[in-house]
Amino acid sequence: MKLNDNTGKLYYVGGCVRDEILGKQSVDIDLCYEGDAIDYVTAQGYKIIKTQKNIRTARALIEGEEIDFASTRKEIYPEAGHLPVTTETGCPLEDDLTRRDFTVNSIAKSVKTGDIIDPTGGAEDIKRQLLRVHHDKSFIDDPTRIIRGLKFSLRFGFEFDEHTENLKADYLNNVNYDMSYSRLKKELVDCFNLNSDEGLNRFIEEGMYKLLTQNKPQKPLASIEELVKEFGIQTPWLIYLGSTNLSRLALAKTETKIIEGFNAIKESGAPYKICSKSDIQSVILWTVFVNPDKGLHYLKNLREVKPSVTGEELLIMGCKGKQIGNILDKVQEEKFKTPDMSHADELSIVKSILNKNKL
Ligand code: ATP
Ligand code: MG
Repeated sequence: MKLNDNTGKLYYVGGCVRDEILGKQSVDIDLCYEGDAIDYVTAQGYKIIKTQKNIRTARALIEGEEIDFASTRKEIYPEAGHLPVTTETGCPLEDDLTRRDFTVNSIAKSVKTGDIIDPTGGAEDIKRQLLRVHHDKSFIDDPTRIIRGLKFSLRFGFEFDEHTENLKADYLNNVNYDMSYSRLKKELVDCFNLNSDEGLNRFIEEGMYKLLTQNKPQKPLASIEELVKEFGIQTPWLIYLGSTNLSRLALAKTETKIIEGFNAIKESGAPYKICSKSDIQSVILWTVFVNPDKGLHYLKNLREVKPSVTGEELLIMGCKGKQIGNILDKVQEEKFKTPDMSHADELSIVKSILNKNKL
């Protein structure tokens, strides 16, 4: 969609300008108005869907698309590591650009003229593939920027410049655990959903895990990246963080279940049986952090192995209630050892169990 602006005060900012310079397609566009964005959207006659009055943002419906317009703003961090507080809206564009995370994300492009406004040398940093923060307190204000940096590094091959790298190392040696973990979780999810073994290696080696815990996580014994691709896991972040202490993050029920499944497999004397009842992510966790040989054997050869005898057949043979489930479990365990056993083989296992029970 092509936006029109006659004021010269509306700018594309952030990721979409960076992506355009990189020649990449953007996932979303960010717009910033040097002044009051709600007044601007109203004056343009756009249909407003939603506004956030305190920071003067407006969501408008233009040609069927929802577009966010932000006002330029200044922010401070009264509590390090928590959400910033806006102290002024409608400020000069440059103040809005320098409140951002890295110089590469602090470039604006005029919607009207296409002119680039780049007060901190972001375009040059894109060329040199460098991530540079705007000031020395940047990671103290917002430590999630460290993980954002890792994410951009994995996506675009950018590296922290020397000074920024030193600031990161200093922060990680002195983490303030009183921070907003919901924001950190969002960045970790985005970062590790990129599915990169290198990402986890750097997270561990460069001490980024210290944002969550002082305990160094165990490195995986097999490639998570490859298993995630092979088994089509869409959101693999939790697998990457499976050996990291996540007690500071609020996990959703489904996420907790994956970790519990992993622990149950790890602690079981009959792991394949638990694998067959668990989410595949729990099985991959066990594979990469505990037992790659058995895990890969299960994933590649045993995952589809199910008894062919049915509960109905067992009923006809005189089994009742809970006994049916128990016998099917035992047949499955035997089948894990001999995956190509026939239906008749399974029935003879059932018969021998029933005979034993009679004795
Ligand atoms: P992506 O391509 O992943 O959307 P992005 O750079 O657009 O990358 P967003 O999370 O969409 O990232 O944020 C939009 C912009 O807001 C960023 O480009 C950056 O300028 C600013 N921003 C986002 N998070 C932070 C942060 N934690 N601290 C400072 N500025 C931030
Ligand atoms: Mg974006």
